[in-house]
Amino acid sequence: MKTQILDGKAIALKTEAELHERVARIKDAGNGRTPMLATVLVGSDPASATYVRMKQNACKRVGMDSIAVELPETTTTEELLTKIKELNANSLCQGILLQHPVPPQIEERVCFDSIALNKDVDGVTCLGFGRMAMGEEAYGSATPQGIMRLLSAYKIPVEGKHAVIVGRSPILGKPMAMMMLNQNATITVCHSRTKNLPDIIKNADIVVGAVGRPEFIKASWIKDGAVVIDAGYHPGGIGDIELTPLYDRVSAITPVPGGVGPMTINTLIFQAVDAAEKNSVKI
Ligand code: NAP
Repeated sequence: MKTQILDGKAIALKTEAELHERVARIKDAGNGRTPMLATVLVGSDPASATYVRMKQNACKRVGMDSIAVELPETTTTEELLTKIKELNANSLCQGILLQHPVPPQIEERVCFDSIALNKDVDGVTCLGFGRMAMGEEAYGSATPQGIMRLLSAYKIPVEGKHAVIVGRSPILGKPMAMMMLNQNATITVCHSRTKNLPDIIKNADIVVGAVGRPEFIKASWIKDGAVVIDAGYHPGGIGDIELTPLYDRVSAITPVPGGVGPMTINTLIFQAVDAAEKNSVKI
């Protein structure tokens, strides 16, 4: 079987060219004012710093500005809330990204939920999640939304398929389940207390790996012809799924790297441009 490679890097690049034009139009409409994404990084975790830098670079590539808010490791919940409130009130900033995870003394959920809905371009608020789940307008959580955009770009149908999602985190597994359910898939969500995981995965038409453990999902658990989506990324360029033996056996696969990762960043920027368009009359 010829396996289709779901090339997130290529789709992201193509989308960036379109976004560049849209940003130029927003600038024209706003007398040259440049739309802006605020990135908020708390602490000094090197991986988080790298992700934030990659997001800022993506802004630059489409012609958007970004302001980098960097707060120390010792930041309190109150201090972070004050900063987010300032950004909510700042009409020059159309989107807010609070990089996950924040240091443990901070109540991350409270801080996420303080982001104004119309600036929640990373799709992290409870309100946004609830609205998305109900099919109302809201920005989706960037990684699962990026996966949906990738499937759509390759015209891979979700309707009527049995999707098995391994992982139920608020930013990935849970919203993934709701997005696929909204497109009429039948969903099984697995987690650390799930029994007989290999047997469940053997019945999946679509498998989404969102576990956070390198090559935890074995190739032998996945049926021939399935669509394989690997959201994981670990040192050495491996994902949450044992991908190598699956080439030529499944119908479609996201490479690691170059599959889900670029689509996550691209979706953040895509949603930031959308927010800027909606707010451009107010710039
Ligand atoms: P997370 O918050 O750590 O969640 C991991 C999930 O996996 C949890 O729901 C957990 O279950 C489940 N799990 C853990 N051990 C399991 C087991 N033995 N069997 C079945 N399920 C198990 O991770 P996350 O933030 O969702 O990230 C998941 C993966 O996606 C990671 O590899 C991460 O690097 C990657 N990721 C990639 C991007 C990107 O842009 N490409 C963005 C975000 C995340 P419980 O709920 O029961 O604990």
